[in-house]
Amino acid sequence: MTNIEYVSTRTDPTRLNAAEAIARGLAPDGGLYMPLAFPSFGTSKFADCATLAQTAAKLIAPFVQGSVLADSIEQICTDAFDFPTPVVPLNNDCAVSVLELFHGPTAAFKDVGARFLAACMERIEADSSQPLKILVATSGDTGGAVAAAFHGRSNVEVDVFYPAGKVSARQEKQLTCWGDNIRAFRVDGRFDDCQNLVKAVFEDTALMQAHRFSSANSINLGRLLPQMCYYAHASLEIFRNEGKAPSFIVPTGNLGNALACVWARRAGLPIRNIVLATNANKSIPDFLKGGDWQPRESVSTLASAIDVGNPSNMERLRWLHSDLDDLRSQITAHAVTDKQIARQIVKDHTRFDQVWCPHTATALFVYDQLEPQQRKEHHWVIVATAHPAKFETIVEPLIKHEVDVPESLARILELPSKSLPISAQLESLRAWYG
Ligand SMILES: *Cc1c(COP(=O)(O)O)cnc(C)c1O
Repeated sequence: MTNIEYVSTRTDPTRLNAAEAIARGLAPDGGLYMPLAFPSFGTSKFADCATLAQTAAKLIAPFVQGSVLADSIEQICTDAFDFPTPVVPLNNDCAVSVLELFHGPTAAFKDVGARFLAACMERIEADSSQPLKILVATSGDTGGAVAAAFHGRSNVEVDVFYPAGKVSARQEKQLTCWGDNIRAFRVDGRFDDCQNLVKAVFEDTALMQAHRFSSANSINLGRLLPQMCYYAHASLEIFRNEGKAPSFIVPTGNLGNALACVWARRAGLPIRNIVLATNANKSIPDFLKGGDWQPRESVSTLASAIDVGNPSNMERLRWLHSDLDDLRSQITAHAVTDKQIARQIVKDHTRFDQVWCPHTATALFVYDQLEPQQRKEHHWVIVATAHPAKFETIVEPLIKHEVDVPESLARILELPSKSLPISAQLESLRAWYG
């Protein structure tokens, strides 16, 4: 096929290749980059892909064709996909599995996108004279994953913005322990304020002229492309074994993870239903029910990494499926309350001897609400987005014992921390950019 080009979801008609879209992050008109076409893979195309890295290189190749990333895509994928994302059957019931995305350096799925993005940026920036400043607004997990993935790389600096007092102690440690080319800003506000702060920088002509900024939020194309790959690899594995496409239930906040699943299905991967699980921040389920898109202020819940009232990637999803009925045929979404999250954690600890993070628990709750007939028809995959040890203050009192800390996380927890307090206004940030 011809090279895939990328355009803004808004009015800017400029067409870019993948490397250009990744380097920019956000389009100059404030829009997000979307591919103008999708490849159309058949399952047999992946017959020789044994590892996640191989599946990833094959799937992403057409998306980066014609860009500076094309020649090194295999190497990038080998770098980035260096930890497993296994599909683990739940309790010997072969019709439901958990896709464990938490085996990376910061124990959450965002390691996948961050590591791929860092590997791409390193190549894109190889000969630049002025360092690229990467801005990341985080509700907890993104910032840590991006900081870990970029730490120590040359020609790139990372500024992380997180809502003061609204991330867990262990998350905060993962944001603030790095130093060197990584700075952590503790913002007096909510996640949405952090996100708006980053957007304000991109819309500020003076700052944009003085520096080279990019983003590493789930708005960056370089985060979405790799997230397609674990859906591809998992769905192919199940399809090969069972001859039927599986469905996925995805804990959803800013909608980057679930959108990647939609893209993977559009690229021809054997994926059936895509079901979104949100917490009390239910802009998406309400929209699918009611019809008007009404982003809101976020509310705090037990599943803090999905406390998003105005999911950025909705703009991409609505660009792709502007008709509401069309959109409803692509995804469904269900909101889960804090009480239901807590009960699910307790229930599955007893039922399966499994401990979920609060986000993963939303997906399990949604699974339990399916009709028994639906559950039997085909394989369901619950997407486990973080290790429960990252949210031990919520999980441990519920299950009444400690959660083992994975080794990579334990190493980070030993390091000293440093963060810079700022208000949520662009003016207070301007001072730091001289
Ligand atoms: C970021 C995050 C999510 C939500 O992913 P989105 O791509 O923002 O929808 C879910 N769970 C965890 C643990 C996360 O860190």
